[in-house]
Amino acid sequence: MANEKRDSANIHSDHSAWEQMADELDELAVVPTEVLADWVTARGRCLWELTFGDPPEWTGEDEPDRELATQMCVGCPVRAECLELELRVGGEQSVGVWGALNEEDRRALHAVWARRRRFLLEAMTAEEERS
Ligand code: SF4
Repeated sequence: MANEKRDSANIHSDHSAWEQMADELDELAVVPTEVLADWVTARGRCLWELTFGDPPEWTGEDEPDRELATQMCVGCPVRAECLELELRVGGEQSVGVWGALNEEDRRALHAVWARRRRFLLEAMTAEEERS
């Protein structure tokens, strides 16, 4: 599901792609934010590479560095969890590359994700009240 590799450069302005990506994140809706943060901190490829691995040589230029960061994220085992976490915490103000998306793409996704999430949580609450 959510670890499917994506090339964010190919999904600009494709609304159905944002819907599909938000759909893939739905299963993380019940995971507490602190748990997501723990998973990302423990298993995030960027953190692991910085500590033990061979991180890319950053150029100091926005675009090439975003490209390098995005490439690192695509192979990350907690890409979806990282993206979910940043959508919750950073929201529309999110900056940088997280979850293999740059901020422009993530903001576009956020609008779709927030709407879906509101409906999903309302449905879950209604289901709980019925049972
Ligand atoms: S998805 Fe990218 S930014 Fe997030 S933890 Fe993985 S490598 Fe780091």
